[in-house]
Amino acid sequence: MSYTKANTITRKFDVVIIGAGGSGMRAALELSRAGLSVASLSKVFPTRSHTVAAQGGVSASLGNMSEDNWHYHFYDTIKGSDWLGDQDAIEFMCREAPKVVVELEHFGMPFDRNPDGTIYQRPFGGHTANYGEKPVQRACAAADRTGHAMLHTLYQQNVKEKTNFFVEWMALDLIRDEDGDVVGVTALELETGDLYILQAKAVLLATGGAGRIFAASTNAFINTGDGLGMAARAGIPLQDMEFWQFHPTGVAGAGVLLTEGCRGEGAVLINSEGERFMERYAPTLKDLAPRDFVSRSMDQEIKEGRGCGPNKDYVYMKLDHLGADTIHKRLPSVYEIGVNFANVDITKEMIPVVPTIHYQMGGIPTNINGQVVIKKSEADYKVPVQGLYAVGECAAVSVHGANRLGTNSLLDLLVFGKSAGKHIVQTVRNQAEHKPLPADAAGRTLARLGRLQESKSGEYSQDIAQQIRTSMQQHAAVFRTQASMDEGVLKINAIREKVGSVTLKDKSKVWNTARMEALEVDNLIEVAQATMTSAAARQECRGAHTVYDYEHPADHHEFPLGRNDKEWLKHTLWYSQGNRLDYKPVNLKPLTVDTIPPKVRTF
Ligand SMILES: Cc1cc2nc3c(=O)[nH]c(=O)nc-3n(C[C@H](O)[C@H](O)[C@H](O)COP(=O)(O)OP(=O)(O)OC[C@H]3O[C@@H](n4cnc5c(N)ncnc54)[C@H](O)[C@@H]3O)c2cc1C
Repeated sequence: MSYTKANTITRKFDVVIIGAGGSGMRAALELSRAGLSVASLSKVFPTRSHTVAAQGGVSASLGNMSEDNWHYHFYDTIKGSDWLGDQDAIEFMCREAPKVVVELEHFGMPFDRNPDGTIYQRPFGGHTANYGEKPVQRACAAADRTGHAMLHTLYQQNVKEKTNFFVEWMALDLIRDEDGDVVGVTALELETGDLYILQAKAVLLATGGAGRIFAASTNAFINTGDGLGMAARAGIPLQDMEFWQFHPTGVAGAGVLLTEGCRGEGAVLINSEGERFMERYAPTLKDLAPRDFVSRSMDQEIKEGRGCGPNKDYVYMKLDHLGADTIHKRLPSVYEIGVNFANVDITKEMIPVVPTIHYQMGGIPTNINGQVVIKKSEADYKVPVQGLYAVGECAAVSVHGANRLGTNSLLDLLVFGKSAGKHIVQTVRNQAEHKPLPADAAGRTLARLGRLQESKSGEYSQDIAQQIRTSMQQHAAVFRTQASMDEGVLKINAIREKVGSVTLKDKSKVWNTARMEALEVDNLIEVAQATMTSAAARQECRGAHTVYDYEHPADHHEFPLGRNDKEWLKHTLWYSQGNRLDYKPVNLKPLTVDTIPPKVRTF
């Protein structure tokens, strides 16, 4: 069996969406409702996408339980992003939030309720009232299964609107024509092993995060950054990939997430001396400071010898004081995770936690309509690529900048899924014909498949993937050093050389998961190299990127953590071709309100 141009099957749609998580399904809904022909591809059944694992909530300044408005949310998000977020996109998201959440409620989302019938909202890290004064209740929640409820609600609406789902299909490469426009994608149907060209007037990437480039991750195994790999191979840069969020409370040793909603409900972090140490680091917000801040504080406690357990390598989260009733009502899954993954009954004992890789702030650069944008010149750095869109965790619009606030991702999926959907409807309706496919439409994909099919020796993809994960874990950690990052760059560059000669033992066609995993490694390496190269180049501390060497630079006393706005208040762009970096400005100008100027970040 071999893959050839002759046995590649071509099909035509108005729009192809890669990914059926929250963002892909929110966009699909707009398109199907407008009567377009949509193919929505997913590696797994839609409701198994990683969005299903989101626990804590979705943010919106509804003000149901404490005084709130979108201006506070806007301020918190910019400060949370360490000023790397684009203020126009952040304004757009925070203003739209109440609308898209109420819309979701009307779709049938089973939110928890207050006695007066309004949506229940809990506090979350970095979300405050009155510009940092005190925590606010902004996270709209369905117990600790908010993503589960949201994904099922969106799936049901899509079933109603007759969206075409292509389940257990893996998209492989973008097809660009000689103008650089995207005119379709190639994809494998896993059940048959057949290769397809899906021709489309627009392609939307909604492939989620790539947390699986790290060894210890809260992410699903399918989160291999396929959309990022596809974009990178097609010549599109990846933005701000040095910024990876460590969630403070992964179960030590297991990596499974315990939602920040725990601390939202009142849980606290405790060191080996029984001290609630966050009071020292963040006197106002304490355990509800943003994630980069809390993760660093935990790491610091561990480094200074106040970690818990035989190896002093974790801290405890304490929940028992919340009472068993609250825990069973508000945090039922967290209770189960405690029993199953740590053998701890959280209603009675403390649970061991460590910062764990959770979320990528960077991604494929887009504007607020979800259009993928590229840099043509110093003045022209937001030029849309015709026919290509990206939303959700794989995209960088950029609302999260250098550090995302909890619950702002589910919001991002709803807001930008919807706006991209609307923009695609308008564009596609005005385009009578599909643009023709280039002669070698499947060329790149056939070369990738052929290489695996003909391989006789070389390393196995799972071994290469493991090498990537171990290197990333070691060289792109919570605290980084220049020397360690430089070493990480060399290691990842060396692993990249080996990726080209991965061998595939099982060459059968039908349901070949080994082939799928080998193809995923092509994406892991793009994301890993983007991350290491971008990180080693950024000589400052900002958000989740903390480098010892730059913590207290002599000429930047105004920022105790070593943020260097003079030189580094800019977005990174990484290009796969030539492993090259470029930069573009951060947009500090909101749509209608005044700029929130950079200042010291304390909590
Ligand atoms: C454990 C956990 C808890 C979280 N809790 C919260 C929370 O409480 N609040 C919050 O705001 N955020 C939370 N987050 C973050 C948030 O859930 C994610 O960022 C978000 O759900 C990502 O959604 P998405 O639509 O971008 O992608 P996903 O939901 O990850 O979906 C990606 C889709 O792409 C498909 N796909 C990928 N590659 C391919 C390919 N090659 N071909 C075809 N299909 C492909 C997959 O099959 C899937 O359907 C949490 C994340 C985790 C991991």
